[in-house]
Amino acid sequence: MRVLITGGAGFLGSHLAEHFLSQGHKVIAMDNLLTGRMENISALFKSRDFEFVKCDVTNYISVRGKLDAVLHFASPASPIDYAHFPIPTLKVGALGTHKALGLAKDKKAVFLLASTSEVYGDPDVNPQPETYWGNVNPIGPRGVYDEAKRFAEAMTMAYHRFHRMPVRIVRIFNTYGPRMRKEDGRAVPNFIMQALKNRPLTVYGKGNQTRSLCYVSDLVEGIDKLLHSDINTPVNIGNPRELTILKIARTIRKLTGSKSRIIHKPLPVDDPQVRRPDIALAKSRLKWSPQVSLDQGLSKTIDHFKRSQ
Ligand code: UDP
Repeated sequence: MRVLITGGAGFLGSHLAEHFLSQGHKVIAMDNLLTGRMENISALFKSRDFEFVKCDVTNYISVRGKLDAVLHFASPASPIDYAHFPIPTLKVGALGTHKALGLAKDKKAVFLLASTSEVYGDPDVNPQPETYWGNVNPIGPRGVYDEAKRFAEAMTMAYHRFHRMPVRIVRIFNTYGPRMRKEDGRAVPNFIMQALKNRPLTVYGKGNQTRSLCYVSDLVEGIDKLLHSDINTPVNIGNPRELTILKIARTIRKLTGSKSRIIHKPLPVDDPQVRRPDIALAKSRLKWSPQVSLDQGLSKTIDHFKRSQ
């Protein structure tokens, strides 16, 4: 296959690029480097099958030659990033998805959208199955990401229904691993960096809100299986082990051997109280379930942050 990955220099995009190259495919990574980084992909240039194009996918995009798959992963993805870049976040989810779909249609390629558990907002159903429509505040600070991704899903389904295009939609739950940015503001990088520096771990609110953390290699495996399936509707990919934020902070403190205290800071506006994927669909149709334990995944991530300090 020849695969285009938008957001190819980002955290997930770079892991996907590495994965598809290792499977013998050709990869074009496209990124405007707003939150992506060249150091994520610098090792991939030794492969003759890898190309990088610096480009903003909210504008017209073109690629020479055939494409078999377009994976649309471009977007700021942490709450801090989309608070810094609200309009680029809306544009890449809306206009960028439209451009990437148009390119996939032209090339007769499969289109895969990186969607998110954020389409469920602050859910009043737990765990969240794909059939749940969500509880999103459209005008809150997270709305720029949540609504852009909801629009992206609607646009993808319209291309599927109207143009009969093969599409895949992965709803990604909290994913962590090497190559997350230290300063992206999310719980895992914040806690690891704070713990390594013996600074207080900043738990927002009481810390009894929950998240379900999936290690990046499990996510990549799930996306690969989804791409090769024939499921045109959304599929949750995430780890169903639900943990409180306080538990995540304590686990990171234990694994780093840190002496950090835990302090509490105000809970951000519209912070979801619970989040846990129902992965029955991925299990039955993709024969996928996560394999990496929390301790294993966090240890690898901690090593990465130690090396890049
Ligand atoms: N959080 C926290 N301390 C931090 C960063 C985040 O307690 O330093 C909390 C945040 O309020 C949320 C959870 O951790 O409840 C996960 O936040 P993250 O930004 O990682 O991702 P989200 O799931 O909110 O998109």
